[in-house]
Amino acid sequence: MAKASENIVLHVADVHKTFGGLHALSDVDLSIEEAKTHAIIGPNGAGKSTLLNVIVGLLPPTRGTVVLDGEVLTGKKPHEINQMGVARVFQTPEIFIDLSVIDNVMVSAFAKRDGAFKLKFAKSLESEKEINQRAVKILTEFGLDDKMEEHAGTLSRGHKRRLELAMCLIQQPRILLLDEPTAGMSRHDTNTTIDLLKDIKATGITIVIIEHDMHVVFSLADKVSVLAGGRIIAEGTPDEMRASTIVKKAYLGEAS
Ligand code: ADP
Ligand code: MG
Repeated sequence: MAKASENIVLHVADVHKTFGGLHALSDVDLSIEEAKTHAIIGPNGAGKSTLLNVIVGLLPPTRGTVVLDGEVLTGKKPHEINQMGVARVFQTPEIFIDLSVIDNVMVSAFAKRDGAFKLKFAKSLESEKEINQRAVKILTEFGLDDKMEEHAGTLSRGHKRRLELAMCLIQQPRILLLDEPTAGMSRHDTNTTIDLLKDIKATGITIVIIEHDMHVVFSLADKVSVLAGGRIIAEGTPDEMRASTIVKKAYLGEAS
């Protein structure tokens, strides 16, 4: 196992995942640096979503461990991992369509507050008033202040994604995991999402992003890991990955 370094916040160590005879992940080692944006790219079926599912506890690895800030996440339940500061945005927005925009954000904050308190990850309970103030602040920062009282179901796809990010960030996570956050979006919504993620990144949060769209990857990532056939085949800066013939062959060639 690699030696833990001070600025590594999440460490995936020697993770394997098999589904029957299929090796979805083999020998996966990843070190995610604090306050950096780390992209995971690779062709369809490479194992990207499986890797994210293993990190957030939705799938148990066949072998290996995931460690957050020195604490082993492997074996914990998804909600416990979430309470410990791992937030995830799925490919399809997960919001309560019949609740107002602000209620969605507040429900998310209550879930984190009460769960973390129960699991003893938090010492005190934040009041409803304090949560409301934080919800208003975050929705204002996200440009959704004029939509706070609207039903979340009436929002555009881009705004739903925005709301979902607000729901994650009100939980003040240590690390934000995104699985193709711009999938199915128009170029305009994609660009707005990139700008929003740049703002989020500037707050110092650690981001792991799975992304197919190279424009998104090259706009945001500090580091890129390339997954193909369940293995990390290359790792480096976006420019290094762009220039790599291994990556071109394994990924860019297939993707085009
Ligand atoms: P990606 O997100 O990179 O497109 P996935 O992680 O979704 O890839 O899938 C990796 C491989 O594992 C694929 O061959 C896929 O069919 C398989 N797979 C994913 N989830 C399951 C599952 N729950 N059961 C069986 N096979 C799965
Ligand atoms: Mg996927």
